[in-house]
Amino acid sequence: MMDGFVFPGISTRVLFGSGTIDRVADELATLGHGKALVLSTPNQQGDAEAVATRLGTAAVGVFAQAEMHTPTDVSERAVAAFRDSGATCVVGIGGGSTVGLAKAIATRTGADQIVIPTTYAGSEMTDILGETSGGEKTTRRDPSIRPEVVIYDVDLTLGLPVDMTVTSALNAIAHGIEGLYATDANPITDMMALDAMRAFRDGLPRVVAEPANTEARTQVLYGAWLCSTALGYVSMALHHKLCHVLGGSFGLPHAETHAIMLPHTAGFNAVAASEKLAPVARIFGGSVGGGLWDFAKANGAPLRLADLGLTEADLDRAAEIASRNPYANPRPFDREDIRSILGAAWRGDRPTT
Ligand code: NAD
Repeated sequence: MMDGFVFPGISTRVLFGSGTIDRVADELATLGHGKALVLSTPNQQGDAEAVATRLGTAAVGVFAQAEMHTPTDVSERAVAAFRDSGATCVVGIGGGSTVGLAKAIATRTGADQIVIPTTYAGSEMTDILGETSGGEKTTRRDPSIRPEVVIYDVDLTLGLPVDMTVTSALNAIAHGIEGLYATDANPITDMMALDAMRAFRDGLPRVVAEPANTEARTQVLYGAWLCSTALGYVSMALHHKLCHVLGGSFGLPHAETHAIMLPHTAGFNAVAASEKLAPVARIFGGSVGGGLWDFAKANGAPLRLADLGLTEADLDRAAEIASRNPYANPRPFDREDIRSILGAAWRGDRPTT
């Protein structure tokens, strides 16, 4: 019999499809804003300037200094630029780093946000903000963090390099996997997570073979939207905690770390969440962790933390940091379990569960 559940509703307006960026100026006007500051990373300053051109006189500036893991000093500079510009809304174009900066400004100023994701990281639909200060990353959730409008224009993803495409897709799948066994999971987020995994399973190999194939990119972007939405309404567990420690305290790159860790954390949890994760094994084949590892390898993802520059000595410290505070996870664990998961991911072993 199905358990009772709470479905919180989806509060963000979503525009999905080819050419949807054409509607950015209308969306700004519909939100009731006459002035917006456009955000990006330095790499995507050209994209941000193109958005500013579309907005015309409503664009009062471009702040192209977003950085991974949302350092608070960058956010403070961005807030000063936002206040000086007289803007009341931010429009962010880029991956999770730019979306993070949009959220950091919004939560400090009350600004509305329109975000235009160009990776599959999945921050755009969530009320989660992770910020870094003094080498520590802290995460909080609050409704004021959630963007008002998200524009998923597949045309902006056609040039995402294949290596980033693959790691970013695995980052999205990680949200779906942890969503399935979350303590506050519900049948809607389960449906979204599993549909997303089927979209990635079918779409990602096609994108790897033909990166500018709009139909395959659309399938993958749709999967990213589903995973981001699921992440926005349920709690995360061991996998996100470990990636958070590896990114925040060891400076490892976000998407690659998720891609490498996912088969190991999913395999570890498959023992305790066998019913919830059984569909994952059916989608990717083999065992939960083994199937995900095979999928990652077949698409050319990195498989070893050692290749990201982490040393074997770092593993003990990472295990110590990650086991300092307890948090919900389907399978109970201790410091030794974490050290063993990290060791397997460091060596690039194929999980058996
Ligand atoms: P990113 O945003 O740092 O992007 C990586 C690089 O790729 C950047 O230089 C970016 O400008 C560039 N890029 C982005 N799209 C491109 C495209 N289409 N073509 C070419 N280059 C492109 O990396 P990411 O993996 O998207 O995001 C990682 C960040 O997002 C981390 O800080 C992470 O903590 C955060 N995140 C937050 C949440 C949340 O819910 N709060 C969820 C997922 C990720």
